Amino acid sequence: MFSQLKPVAIDPILGLMAAYREDPNPLKVDLGVGVYKDEQGHTAVLKCVKEAEALRLKHEDSKTYVGMAGDPSFNTHIEKLAFGATHTVLLANRVVTAHTPGGTGALRVAAEFIKRANPDATIWVTTPTWANHISLFQAAGLKVKEYAYYDYDTKGLQVEQMFADLEQIPAGDVVLVHACCHNPSGMDLNFEQWQRFTAIAKERGFTPLVDMAYQGFGAGLDEDAAGLRYLAEQVPEMILCSSCSKNFGLYRERIGAVSVVGSNSKETDVVRANLLSVVRGIYSMPPTHGAIIVSHILDSAELTALWHDELAEMRNRINSYRQLIIDKFTAEGITQDFSFIARQHGMFSFLGINKAQIERLRSEFSIYMVGSSRVSISGLNHANIDYFAKAVATVLKG
Ligand code: PMP
Repeated sequence: MFSQLKPVAIDPILGLMAAYREDPNPLKVDLGVGVYKDEQGHTAVLKCVKEAEALRLKHEDSKTYVGMAGDPSFNTHIEKLAFGATHTVLLANRVVTAHTPGGTGALRVAAEFIKRANPDATIWVTTPTWANHISLFQAAGLKVKEYAYYDYDTKGLQVEQMFADLEQIPAGDVVLVHACCHNPSGMDLNFEQWQRFTAIAKERGFTPLVDMAYQGFGAGLDEDAAGLRYLAEQVPEMILCSSCSKNFGLYRERIGAVSVVGSNSKETDVVRANLLSVVRGIYSMPPTHGAIIVSHILDSAELTALWHDELAEMRNRINSYRQLIIDKFTAEGITQDFSFIARQHGMFSFLGINKAQIERLRSEFSIYMVGSSRVSISGLNHANIDYFAKAVATVLKG
């Protein structure tokens, strides 16, 4: 039977990571992988996480199963973190949350849940979007279509085309929108654009699915959630998928959450029953290590303050490098306009250079980025930024 299997292309980013690992050049720079790195090029365990893990070891007295929704304490914390503690949807008991294996798990549960609610639903994603969005929704049997988003010429949003596309989407379909720190472009909706998006969602009646994988990496925890909070106040129903991989640095612990907002508190019983039966059919119950770490942090004012500091340090480092890249490029005599990098948010931006230039950066300078020219900004540090800027200046000269 297995001999019938056809080869499957692996995600190019995994190939890139392997090529980087094998490259013997001591000056090599990895701008591919979407993982935060500090000034030493290291993805360290946050101090607040270390302390929470110690608390867990001390207090945990059972390894019995949790329920299908996971850890109730984590679920309450993550709802408050995302929506804000006094949001109307929380006060009205309209939200059902299940903690999931990472943000990816949240998206997959959401996809299966959508399939149950409307097997004919099309899910609309931004052009471009995180590549795994498309494969995981298709794997769940949903149709996937794209709406205009990033403008490769102006390095901003295709604002009018985006709203014109959204105006055509019918009720019964789902529109995925990135809460903040758009992956891969770094280009986010501003508040006024969230308001326009919300007005169209209400008018057309489609269901928004907000993916928030980077809360706190853009402008701040509340600032990054402002758009989705406004949307949740206005629309009758929506889905939020969140992830603690980046903002708590818990990547390999696989912790995220899916929150379904129903139109009234009565509906939530049916929503809950369906959501949990989807979970039961995939992995039955989630792992709890990451959830308990996050709960311990958010239960403690002291650990929460430490987490806020550590998160701000990551955010500020990335944002300062956004400006530093522009300054270093100017110092190297680059005249092309890269000012857009400072207007974008989160881990990524497209440099906007061509395939031949990307290839030269890799073969001549051991600088690795994906073929779209998306760079993961935190791969830069004081030891490699000048080398990077010089290399870019060289390939731009042709
Ligand atoms: N959504 C987006 C937009 C992402 O970039 C990512 C991570 N790369 C995820 C979801 C999933 O994150 P994870 O499964 O690692 O929590």
